[in-house]
Amino acid sequence: MTKDQWGTIRDELHQTMGANSFQSWIEPLIYIGSGDGIARFQVPTNFFGNYVSQNYGDLLLSKITRCNPSIRRVVFDTVAVGQDAVTSKPQHAPEPVAAPAVQTKSNALADTLNGSPLDKRFTFDTFVVGKPNELAHAAARRVAEGGPVTFNPLFLYGGVGLGKTHLMHAIAWELRTRQPHLNVLNLSAEQFMYRFVQALRDRKMMDFKELFRSVDVLMVDDVQFIAGKDSTQEEFFHTFNALVDQHKQIIISADRAPDEIKDLENRIRSRLQSGLVVDLHPTDYELRLGILQSKSEMYSRMYPGLEVERGILEFLAARIVSNVRILEGALTRLFAFASLVGKPISMDLTQECLTDILRVSERKVSIEEIQRKVADHYLIRHSDLVGPKRVRTFARPRQIAMYLCKQLTTRSLPEIGRHFGGRDHTTVMHGVKRIEELKKLDAQIAEDVELLRRSLEA
Ligand code: ADP
Ligand code: MG
Repeated sequence: MTKDQWGTIRDELHQTMGANSFQSWIEPLIYIGSGDGIARFQVPTNFFGNYVSQNYGDLLLSKITRCNPSIRRVVFDTVAVGQDAVTSKPQHAPEPVAAPAVQTKSNALADTLNGSPLDKRFTFDTFVVGKPNELAHAAARRVAEGGPVTFNPLFLYGGVGLGKTHLMHAIAWELRTRQPHLNVLNLSAEQFMYRFVQALRDRKMMDFKELFRSVDVLMVDDVQFIAGKDSTQEEFFHTFNALVDQHKQIIISADRAPDEIKDLENRIRSRLQSGLVVDLHPTDYELRLGILQSKSEMYSRMYPGLEVERGILEFLAARIVSNVRILEGALTRLFAFASLVGKPISMDLTQECLTDILRVSERKVSIEEIQRKVADHYLIRHSDLVGPKRVRTFARPRQIAMYLCKQLTTRSLPEIGRHFGGRDHTTVMHGVKRIEELKKLDAQIAEDVELLRRSLEA
């Protein structure tokens, strides 16, 4: 493998891995050369080499063998061996070459204090509050005021895409304006570990400790990452204690509760639990709708004149339940697509543009299930729900069931009609429209529909 080929692979990895992991783990690799079916890389420490080998070894090998099929193994070594070294530096030089984001010893630690760049979009203004996240939001707000520390740490946890990173950045933004003199450091646990490893390598542990202990507010995102990484945990623990002793605010996020993080030392676990632990619950329909409305207002300003037909946001909020990132992605694509083709965002366009997302998020709710729930709710028999009688006591629940079938399943109107005693698709359409109207006029109906929807979604 030539140096150029490695350069191409690096670029590819940069694209696929994301900037953080790439800068932490790939950029520092020095390609030494290949021979005897082995590609050799120099790494700063054994620990570093083991980590890269375990986590990215397969990925690297697959990329390398694709460009040079004779290579069967990738080896990471702390000293440069192999005669055909491709680096321009002397082989005993410990610094990686040609890697702009890898700091030289002198500025490595200064850089530490910058942490991750803050995302402009992640502010309190753009964070939509609902039942599932109101506690986390309130706690974040409190911390963002920068007053006396009342709970330490603030531990935020919740599943992927529920807004943990968003809230952490929002806190940092807010502190920047309210308390500009404070030294606020926001970084991921992975970055913490990388800085730590770097400090060890460069024998700058004293500087590392000093700098980390000089921050006023420390935020560590995705702390579950340090589980099982013993020396990083240890260092984290000391940093943590030193800051708590100085009454400096610490904010931690993780994808699960402290007692559910495996391979975490008990003393760290109990430290993490010693402040305020709040979780972000999975989103509910209202929150998803709120987020969609807020984003679509933003998009409407970006794409003036682009119309979103009624019911589309409701449909997306009901159908895409997985996580907010996917919900946002769907909306972004929808607006981009609609503006390209110059059409309003209609149901047809939505189905066409989001086929893939809608397919994976397809729920297992069936027409039969909806009918059963609705019949139970109104205390009528299933046979009356789908039967021919047109009295209001049967007709209204029937329309509600049709409406829910349209909202919660991908079945077409004729298909739904067939399940309701062979009714025509225009009858179904009429029923769906009627409920849409009634939901606005009749609070009881609106409540019933939401109740049913929620219990079907659960
Ligand atoms: P996490 O860190 O929990 O995995 P993120 O904070 O990265 O999730 O959120 C994923 C995406 O969803 C981000 O674009 C974020 O802005 C958005 N998001 C999540 N929750 C909300 C919310 N309540 N209001 C507005 N946007 C949200
Ligand atoms: Mg995150």
